[in-house]
Amino acid sequence: MPEGDTIFRAAGTLHRVLAGKEVTRFESVYPAVTRIADDHPIVGRTIESVSARGKHLLIAFSGDLILRTHMRMNGSWHIYPSGARWQRPARDMRVLVGTRDAVAVGFNVPIAELLTARNLARHREIQALGPDLLADAVSGTSLFDRAEVLRRMRAHGRDAIAGALLDQRVVAGVGNVFKSEILFLAGVYPFLPVSALADAELERLVDISREQLTANVMSRSQTLSPAVGRRTTRSLDPREKLWVYGRGGKPCRRCGAAIESKKTGLDARLTYWCPACQRPGSSP
Ligand SMILES: [Zn+2]
Repeated sequence: MPEGDTIFRAAGTLHRVLAGKEVTRFESVYPAVTRIADDHPIVGRTIESVSARGKHLLIAFSGDLILRTHMRMNGSWHIYPSGARWQRPARDMRVLVGTRDAVAVGFNVPIAELLTARNLARHREIQALGPDLLADAVSGTSLFDRAEVLRRMRAHGRDAIAGALLDQRVVAGVGNVFKSEILFLAGVYPFLPVSALADAELERLVDISREQLTANVMSRSQTLSPAVGRRTTRSLDPREKLWVYGRGGKPCRRCGAAIESKKTGLDARLTYWCPACQRPGSSP
C-alpha cells in the first residue's frame, strides 16, 4: 500500500505541474465518473489544486468539482510531458487529466469519483480519518494533534500495535513499509496489544512516525510510484535503505539476529521485525 509520504509527494508534484492550468483532456474507465463528466464537462475547467488527505488524492477543478482517488494497494499516479511515452500499458489507465503541456495518468487506481466540496465535507471515509502525520508539513503550522492519536489508539486497545498504526482511522499516513520500520526504530514488538503500551511509548511511536514520514517527504524524489526513494536508515548505500521491511531471514543491521516476518489480517500483509531488538517483554 502506498504510504502517506508517497501520496503527499505525488500530490505536491501534480500540484506544481497542473495547478492553474486548463484541462484539455479528461478520461476515465469508471462509468460513474464519465457520466458526471458528460453532464459537467471537466475539459475547459482550471485545475485549482492537487492535495492529499491521508491516502486520498484530491484534484480540485474550478466550478466546484473534485476528483477523489485512492491508490489502495497497487494504484499510482504518473505525470508525463504531452506526447511522452508512458511507462505503463494504456490498459492500466483508470483516469487521466491532461493539460496543453502535461498528462497525469492514474494507473490501476481502484477508486475514483467526482465530488462537490459539499459531498467531500460529508464523505464518510475522509471524515473518519485520524490526524494526518503530514499535517504540519502541508500547512507549515502546528496542526498535528498527538493527543487525539493517543485517544484513538486507546479506543483500539485490544488491537496489535502494528494494526493500530496502519489503521487510517487512528492516524493517517502510515503504510505497510513504514509500519515495520517505525516499530523497529521504537524497539516495539509488532504484535503487542495497544493496551500493553504506556502513553510514553505510544507518544514515542507517534513521534517516530511523524519524523520518518516528514523526512521522506523532505528528501523528495520526482517519482510518484511507491517505495522508491524511501529510506529509514541513515546509510547512503541504496541497498541499505530499510531496517527490516522486506528483509526476512537476513541479519538485523543492529544486532545480527535473523529478521522474522509474518502475514496478518484479511489481506495478509507482511510484518517484519527483529526478534532480539523487539522483544515482547522488554520495554524500549
Ligand atoms: Zn536486531
